[in-house]
Amino acid sequence: MSVSLTPDIPCKRLSELKTDEEGVITRVFGHGSFRNRITEMGFVRGKSVKVIKNAPLLDPVEYEIMGYRIALRRAEAELIEVTTSPESRSSGANFTTSEGTFPQESANRFLHKAGKTINAALVGNPNCGKTSLFNMASGAREHVGNYSGVTVGAKQASFHHKDYVINLVDLPGTYSITEYSPEELFVRTHILEQMPDVVINVIDASNLERNLYLTTQLIDMDLKVVVALNMYDELSHSGAQLDYHALGRLLGIPIIPTIAAQNVGLTELFDTVVAVFEDNEPIARHIHINYGHDIERSIGELQKLIWQDKDLVARYSSRYLAIKLLENDQTTLQLLQKTPNYDKICATAQKERQLLERIYGEEGETIIADAKYGFIAGALEETYHGAPRDKHARTSRIDQFVTNKIWGLPFFFLLMWLMFQTTFTLGNIPAGWMEQGVSWLGNFVQSHLSEGSLRDLLVDGIIGGVGGVIVFLPNILILFFFISLMEDTGYMARAAFIMDKLMHKMGLHGKSFIPLLMGFGCNVPAVMATRTLESHKDRILTMLILPFMSCSARLPVYVLLISAFFPRHQGLVLFSIYLIGILLAVGSSLLFKRLFFKQTEAPFVMELPPYRVPTGRSVIRHMWHKGSQYLRKMGTIILVASVLIWALGHYPKGDASLTPAQQQEQSYIGHIGKVIEPVIRPLGFDWQIGISLISGLAAKEIVVSSMAVLTDSGDDNASLVSNLQNLTYTEGKHAGEKVYTPLVAYTMMVFILLYFPCIATITAIRREASRKWALFTLCYTTGVAWIVSFIIYQIGSLF
Ligand code: GDP
Ligand code: MG
Repeated sequence: MSVSLTPDIPCKRLSELKTDEEGVITRVFGHGSFRNRITEMGFVRGKSVKVIKNAPLLDPVEYEIMGYRIALRRAEAELIEVTTSPESRSSGANFTTSEGTFPQESANRFLHKAGKTINAALVGNPNCGKTSLFNMASGAREHVGNYSGVTVGAKQASFHHKDYVINLVDLPGTYSITEYSPEELFVRTHILEQMPDVVINVIDASNLERNLYLTTQLIDMDLKVVVALNMYDELSHSGAQLDYHALGRLLGIPIIPTIAAQNVGLTELFDTVVAVFEDNEPIARHIHINYGHDIERSIGELQKLIWQDKDLVARYSSRYLAIKLLENDQTTLQLLQKTPNYDKICATAQKERQLLERIYGEEGETIIADAKYGFIAGALEETYHGAPRDKHARTSRIDQFVTNKIWGLPFFFLLMWLMFQTTFTLGNIPAGWMEQGVSWLGNFVQSHLSEGSLRDLLVDGIIGGVGGVIVFLPNILILFFFISLMEDTGYMARAAFIMDKLMHKMGLHGKSFIPLLMGFGCNVPAVMATRTLESHKDRILTMLILPFMSCSARLPVYVLLISAFFPRHQGLVLFSIYLIGILLAVGSSLLFKRLFFKQTEAPFVMELPPYRVPTGRSVIRHMWHKGSQYLRKMGTIILVASVLIWALGHYPKGDASLTPAQQQEQSYIGHIGKVIEPVIRPLGFDWQIGISLISGLAAKEIVVSSMAVLTDSGDDNASLVSNLQNLTYTEGKHAGEKVYTPLVAYTMMVFILLYFPCIATITAIRREASRKWALFTLCYTTGVAWIVSFIIYQIGSLF
């Protein structure tokens, strides 16, 4: 169907104008990101454009607008509607004033008419009241006509609303915009080919869950949408309450309650349609529905390929096309047939689909639909109160327990306790094996290589350093296994919901909770996990406080010091360390929010995906994804740091008669330790502790291995614990005193908890945020560590 959408005004597409012809822009078609880009270039309604050069085979075409020359692709120019009525041409001289405005009255009047015509389409489920709304709106006013496709038809009407002309199309009812019925295809083709200025999504308020599904598809298509929340009378009668304003803010779509059958709310509805058309509606914004890590990655891969066809992305949102490809949508494949890298796109789409199907054990379409329902459930959970909606029965029964006001939180803490408990009790078994393996390897190398620096490097530097760290891999993998399991079943999303209120008190969002929790495992994947947060502010804020979550790398240090100096109350002491970290995270968050992130941002939906039994493959894959970051750190930073620290302690080589400790003291690292001693003396630390702390910059596990090297008494039977307990100052004003007291040990644990997280974490923050924030984290954490340790040591010394 190709009726002129503004019947009495001759309109053309900009691409149809010949060289030297001039036109006035009446509208820009297409999806949001295209419109935004073209607007930024100056192609705004009411401005005049002149064609500088346009030959049939020439692409791009050159135009002049507001005194600038701009080249547009032909495909882009096809999406810009212009008018070239004789009237407007006669006043052409006035069109090219510096502001591109139209002083002349006739031109004004003319343009007024052309620019104030809105093409709107009614989209919604069957029986939601579209036709009632259509009839009421057009109400035997001007003309109503039929137009039809092959098997389905639609009614069209034009009527006046205030000083606008609204062309309204009543499209057939559909539950979804896929390709399974002629109605669906008709609606889809109308939206994508006719490109209405505003889509009016009619929703049956008494059946929100199912009706909003279609809305999520409109969101993917990146269109200008207004929701008519119809049957509002039924919602009110049911006693349920919907905060439709809040829901609108979450979706980025204004929602207007209507009772179409009684002509209630239609004026407000069309006022809002006008406001959205004029980009005057504060709520309207384009949001992304978060499909979860795996799908988002696949979408990104496909988008990269789609972007290569500039003509294509002028017409369609690349994100929409990518999602459709993952759903194996044949109509979209046909659409892409002409694009140059069609084969590549097909192959990639198939590869990504198979990958997703292997991870989730379900088809792409189902996975995406589940994610959409998760999004809807999350949005309604925050805005809908009252009579139960028709949900999946299983999900709703589990949710009643899990997110219960009374049981929710204790149940959550029980799970957390169980998780940490299992991580360490179960993890210690394979950790023990690995420890034996590492020491066997050390002995093997020791006995098969001749004495010398190479052997020392291998045994003490590489095997000792990396081996001391790698033994924690089982614990870390188990922790990540649990976290992945909670994510994949859908429980993690509920945990975020339960924690939402609490997190808001910290100035954060419930979703930040997941990365923070992961931080107890390893800060590096936790920093990456902040990607799931929609808001930039939340992302940065979460990253900044993450280092205070005591990662598992710090645990070996605590375990060593606690078993040496706090034989009683072990659990309590350990708990207090974790608690100090959490309290400082809360405090810092509140402080940063005051300092850096004062303005509030648009809210976003916390998805509540349906519960599912996770496939072993997906849990293992997700566990591995996180664990491999840890392994990478092992192979790179920890390896280099171990060798470096070994070398600094090994050279310059002293007399062969020196004990290992004396050798350390006269080595480079001994000198460095002495240099920083004055800075850490107020914390009760000596130069040896200083060296351990410096070595911990690379990774905190290394603190233990450098303590082992530094306190080596030469007695092979003495354990590290007894070495630490017996270590005394040999000179200076503390001579004869013990180096480590319980107070020093506690202060040291606090310092290790708080200072510089590790190089890998700082690198991750630099990559995810910026160099500036990485530098800030570095200074802030170390500063806080010093101050808090100072307070603890000085006050502790008084007793
Ligand atoms: P369509 O299939 O989306 O075009 O829906 P219709 O306009 O044909 O409406 C279906 C039924 O819902 C009709 O019986 C209407 O009278 C009724 N209806 C429409 N709007 C409302 C409303 O706001 N409230 C109530 N209670 N009924 C409505
Ligand atoms: Mg109808």
